[in-house]
Amino acid sequence: MTRGYFDPIEEIDTSPTISDEIKETTCYMCACRCGIKVHMKDGGIRYIEGNRDHPVNKGVLCAKGSAGIMNHYSPARLTKPLKRVGERGEAEFEEIEWDEALELASTWLGDIRKSDPRKLAFFTGRDQSQALTGWWASQFGTPNHAAHGGFCSVNMAAGGIYTIGGSFWEFGEPDWDLTKYMLMFGVAEDHDSNPIKAGLSKLKKNGAKFVSLNPIRTGYSAIADEWIGIRPGTDGKFVLALVHELLKADKIDLEYIVRYTNLPWLVIQNPGEADDGLFVRGIDDEPICWDTGTNQAADARLAGVSPALTGSFTMEDGRKAVPAFALMAERYLDESYSPEEAEKETGVPARTIRRIAAEIADVAFEQQIEIDQPWTDWAGRKHDKMIGRPITMHAMRGISAHSNGFHTCRAIHLLQILLGSIDCPGGFRYKPPFPKAAPPPLKPTGKPGQIAPNTPMAGPPLGFPAGPEDLLVEEDGTPRRIDHAFSWEAPIAAHGMMHMVITNAHNQDPYPVDLLFMYMANMSWNSSMNTAGTKEMLTAKDEETGEYRIPKIMYSDAYFSEMVAYADLVLPDTTYLERWDCISLLDRPICSAESAADSIRQPVVEPDRDVRPFQSVLIDLGSRIGLPGLTNEDGSAKYPGGYPDYLVNHERAPGIGSLAGWRGEDGKSHGTGAPNKNQLDKYVENGCFWEHKLPPEQHYFKHANRDYLDYAASVGFIGSANQIIMQVYSEPLQKFRLAAQGHGDIQPPDEHRDRIEKYFDPMPIWYPPFEGAALDTSEYPMHALTQRPMAMYHSWGGQNAWLRQIHGTNPLYINRKTAEAQDIEDGDWIWVISHHSRVKAKAKLMEGVNSDTVWTWNAIGKQKGAWNLDPKAPEAKTGFLLNHVISELLPPKGDGFRYANSDPVTGQAAWYDLRVRIEKCSAEESTETEPQFATLKPPKTLPERPDILRYGKMYSRAFKRDKNK
Ligand code: SF4
Repeated sequence: MTRGYFDPIEEIDTSPTISDEIKETTCYMCACRCGIKVHMKDGGIRYIEGNRDHPVNKGVLCAKGSAGIMNHYSPARLTKPLKRVGERGEAEFEEIEWDEALELASTWLGDIRKSDPRKLAFFTGRDQSQALTGWWASQFGTPNHAAHGGFCSVNMAAGGIYTIGGSFWEFGEPDWDLTKYMLMFGVAEDHDSNPIKAGLSKLKKNGAKFVSLNPIRTGYSAIADEWIGIRPGTDGKFVLALVHELLKADKIDLEYIVRYTNLPWLVIQNPGEADDGLFVRGIDDEPICWDTGTNQAADARLAGVSPALTGSFTMEDGRKAVPAFALMAERYLDESYSPEEAEKETGVPARTIRRIAAEIADVAFEQQIEIDQPWTDWAGRKHDKMIGRPITMHAMRGISAHSNGFHTCRAIHLLQILLGSIDCPGGFRYKPPFPKAAPPPLKPTGKPGQIAPNTPMAGPPLGFPAGPEDLLVEEDGTPRRIDHAFSWEAPIAAHGMMHMVITNAHNQDPYPVDLLFMYMANMSWNSSMNTAGTKEMLTAKDEETGEYRIPKIMYSDAYFSEMVAYADLVLPDTTYLERWDCISLLDRPICSAESAADSIRQPVVEPDRDVRPFQSVLIDLGSRIGLPGLTNEDGSAKYPGGYPDYLVNHERAPGIGSLAGWRGEDGKSHGTGAPNKNQLDKYVENGCFWEHKLPPEQHYFKHANRDYLDYAASVGFIGSANQIIMQVYSEPLQKFRLAAQGHGDIQPPDEHRDRIEKYFDPMPIWYPPFEGAALDTSEYPMHALTQRPMAMYHSWGGQNAWLRQIHGTNPLYINRKTAEAQDIEDGDWIWVISHHSRVKAKAKLMEGVNSDTVWTWNAIGKQKGAWNLDPKAPEAKTGFLLNHVISELLPPKGDGFRYANSDPVTGQAAWYDLRVRIEKCSAEESTETEPQFATLKPPKTLPERPDILRYGKMYSRAFKRDKNK
């Protein structure tokens, strides 16, 4: 008798033989990069467990990580290169051989590079190879490159990098062991998943208080000691009210401020003139303070000065100047920043704000901690101890994805700085290679004169503008990039603006592109705003020529995602268990506050389909079209072994490559050194990671720690070992503002002046999110948000048979009282209506959500047939996508111009500014979600979708016994 799914034999073997072989690699079921051990049995993957030796997860494995096996064996995996034969969007393809695919791709790419390299728009999603893809784009010569950061959390990254020279997550982490109080702002429940879960567990065991601000009480917020269900987009107002209270109570760390920040620097007060608001500088461009010891101006960076923090001073040339601290204090002591004013916007009672301010002041100043660890500061001064203010903060996309997110992020860093809690025991800690200069001296490339046919660009496509002179604009101020990044619409778009690429390419604004080349970015579905409109733009044709307005689309993905249907040429990628990969210090590494580290993936199984790893394909294409960095002088390929060859042998600068471990010909150098042909073997031997542990004297105060700065400079993390000074008052922002006021050679076009002047404030500000400010909010009274669940990373788990059992559909969650006031009950169908569109969803009532907010899980809803799911799958029938009601453009201004739905400083996609109203559907409307789109037919080479997808039955003793009968 065959035993099966519904009648298993109940037997427990307490010490089974799990595997024939164990291979270590790095998980890729989310962006955390945990170390895993893959147990192999009979040539298949039997089981995945966490690697206990790995620095990221120390053996912890989440539901997604262990379910990676079902991503690997998914019936949605693409199997062969595809060439479109039907109309775009119909998913009618012809399977072709790789030779033909690569020939076609290299012809398209080569033709563009010969004529105008800007006509290639090359954008990638949540891949972890941006050190390669960005460099490849530079080699190609196009500035039109970015990854997903612009629609994810660039506000957090840029806000941090321009203020403290570092940021949260990959760039920094809480001091989980020593902190006594944690404030968490807007963090999705799977963000930095295993490390945060482990960290919160430590924090709870240590008895520290954990306060979470989030409109939704799930995930991390559900285990917080205090949940503050703040109104979306108002965190900046809350934080600046805390600043107000701390300043009023004189609870700030003046010694820290003087030593480590630019608040003592003198700011010129010359209203209406070109130098107003800039720092006073000496003959060597050094910033100037007022030394109270000598009562004269002095180099603010000198260790011996005693700078004034208040007062007004007259310089030798007669100009008046005040310390930045005085400007800061004056601003935030104003009653407009009081808790009562904050209560009006945030919904958080003033008494709660006052209490939190008192609690953090108490922890910072009455519960100071000391570590008996001598260290030496940047000026050579010896310190016996490391003094800590044990209050830490963490923030992420809930803060970032608003049009006021950049300033809110800066406000959080201001709060940390005033408390003296950056990189001290118990506070927030930098992770190498951070901190870096704020901002780093890396500029975006793509100005007039920097792009030429058949020529690499001299620098990277992305960077950190320090003033108008660094923008990528034409003389008349129009953008140079297809996404309008680094233009007057988003001057500090440090991660690009991927959410605008399709709209602008369709509108041929500022010019038509010829080829849209994307990787791992589901842009016709959950990675775009205005999904229906995006599909129309991808299929729109020129009325005169009948050709597609975006002439060619090339796409690489491992799965039959919604975006595949819109590609003209599909390059099928492998799964993460079938390829070499690199998590590099040149990109977003896996360091901790106490170690520099990087890691790799190794193939644990060979592909059983005709697919190739994208990174190797990219390198192959590069050498086929003769990119200098990928081609030898005789025209042969520089890295014929593909990505692993490149990882080992490519040097970005002499001695610096993709991987920092086991360098040098003998493999004995770490950090820098010549390429080592055995490098990957050494990584594999070591569990696929490399880690350099920092000695204890380098653990804290990295921004001013002589030993750490020397080490960081020696391995190329920073250009010089100078102290990194926190920029509370941002001169780069003031330079943009001065340009808007009519100063300098490079000024914004008139239509952008007011916006630049208003939002390029050199100190943090709060303003209402743009979408709500542009609408009649009585018509759209609710905020609408998405969150990632713990068990699903965006759309990545959408085809995963195990994870679908946890999240097969997604309702719209509504506060119970709010719903009852509209007579809405659990399971009712409702319309979610924005100024842009409407979507139909099923209601689910809950208590733990802000009463003005509705929300759902991100990317659970699917287009019928996509991901090789049954068209009747719950994801397509009852699951829905909130993206349908989000516009990529703000409502029109008076002159009809529509800005991107973005932060005005960084261009970050403002997903969470969304305003809606909800209406109960009629009985006739209550069938399935809307809008619906054509059912996608999977390519012929995909396996037939099974009714029930099982895995692992072949390993069971019952199965083997039955088989042998
Ligand atoms: S948190 Fe989970 S899914 Fe993410 S990398 Fe770690 S184990 Fe994998």
